[in-house]
Amino acid sequence: MTTTAPQPSANTNLTLDPADWVAFRTLAHRMVDDSLEHIRTLGDRAPWTPMPDATRATLTSAALPLDGQGDAAAYAEFAEHVLPYTNGNRHPRFWGWVQGNGTPLGMMADMLAAGMNAHLAGLDQAPKLVELKVIEWLATLMGFPKDSSGVLMSGGTMANLVGLAVARHAKAGFDLRKEGLYGAPRLAVYASSEVHSWAQKAVELFGMGSASLRKVPVASDLRMDTATLSAMIAADRATGLRPTCVIGTAGTVNSGAMDDLNAIADICTRESLWMHVDGAFGALAALSPALKPLVAGMERADSVAFDLHKWGYLPYEIACVLVKDRVVHEAAFSLTPSYLTDEGRGVIAGGLPFADRGPELTRNFKALKVWLSFKAHGVRAIADVIEQNVAQAREFGVRVVQLPDAVLSAPVSLNIVCFRFAPAAMSPEEHDAYNKEILLRVQESGLAIISGSRIAGRYVMRVACSNHRSRWDDYESLLAGLARIAHEVRRG
Ligand SMILES: *Cc1c(COP(=O)(O)O)cnc(C)c1O
Repeated sequence: MTTTAPQPSANTNLTLDPADWVAFRTLAHRMVDDSLEHIRTLGDRAPWTPMPDATRATLTSAALPLDGQGDAAAYAEFAEHVLPYTNGNRHPRFWGWVQGNGTPLGMMADMLAAGMNAHLAGLDQAPKLVELKVIEWLATLMGFPKDSSGVLMSGGTMANLVGLAVARHAKAGFDLRKEGLYGAPRLAVYASSEVHSWAQKAVELFGMGSASLRKVPVASDLRMDTATLSAMIAADRATGLRPTCVIGTAGTVNSGAMDDLNAIADICTRESLWMHVDGAFGALAALSPALKPLVAGMERADSVAFDLHKWGYLPYEIACVLVKDRVVHEAAFSLTPSYLTDEGRGVIAGGLPFADRGPELTRNFKALKVWLSFKAHGVRAIADVIEQNVAQAREFGVRVVQLPDAVLSAPVSLNIVCFRFAPAAMSPEEHDAYNKEILLRVQESGLAIISGSRIAGRYVMRVACSNHRSRWDDYESLLAGLARIAHEVRRG
């Protein structure tokens, strides 16, 4: 048999580094300049422009490029067909779902982190110390002990998932890692009916089944009815289920409602259950001394998960899960194969702490954007913008109901306003269709991006204020546009 493997020779010194560093540096500077200029001028364009046919065709029909066209030509294609067509979330008039804007400094931090290409399983390197320090800062801000464990994750879904995995392992009452769920009693997890969809994904992924996620009804303010929670736990125990964890939501995605975290903490203490808080955006209220009372009780949780790419204004992706007890946290994940043994010296000294705190091994250097933005802006400046968003939401809530037929669909608990137009002459079903049409025209006209949802079964429009670029003028434009479009749709 002959082998076709290439033999080493003078001709195999291949690399993907630039052949011409000077030309590459010029192009790289242009990439930075173009990106920053695009961000600086976002407000001059519509938040969202549907992609032209040529762009759709170019992107969908592209053949696998076996031969390169060079970096300048590839970049030109990006600048023409990709860069301009986003969903608009960086724009000053974007209030859809709960998304983030990102910051120019955060963009540069991600570029610097990519340049370092640090491997953040751990290892003895400065980025590890930055990551540990950022976790300590975040713990302090959330009212957790300074020495809490934690890990940065890609998003709230993943951060919550890690928190719930720790909870389940800690409270299963048997060796879950070894035995799995075979033959075990059904483990139950409690959350309000307004809990974000990550929780169902998590229990399904954990092999627990969605029936293990016990949804507790909410009161009219959309907060968990904690008296019913207690009754459900007792009833479940009586039928042989094993309650493990209560998820309190600090800021529901639909309306920003805050569960009564102190009441949940009392119940968890009494019932010996794990308390996890999903504070995807709402937990960030803790950065502001004025808003911190809204999340009272969060500091009593065993774990809390939150995004920094929503209300922390940083570019995707970054979230954090904090776990008070490091031993319990690592017990759910830690595993040391022979090729990753801590030798006490050398580059592997200190082991791989982040690999021991979640399912991932290779991780990028997420902490740098937090570290740089905290240092550059200061936490107070970030908290001021968070407070500004809350003030904007409250004022928008006051103003929107002054429009003809407009009503609030939920209390403005934090930074989300849910409202609808409900003309007396229409049925509830007609209201749903009417509001949906208004919302789509708001988006398609280039006025603003807001999103829809359902509250108590009825279609509502949502304005989520997690945008550091919106000025009050932008809200005035939305109010005026809503009045005009609502009128136009009604006229037909
Ligand atoms: C956004 C959100 C999540 C999910 O976070 P991702 O970063 O989108 O994965 C979970 N819970 C709540 C309350 C959220 O608002």
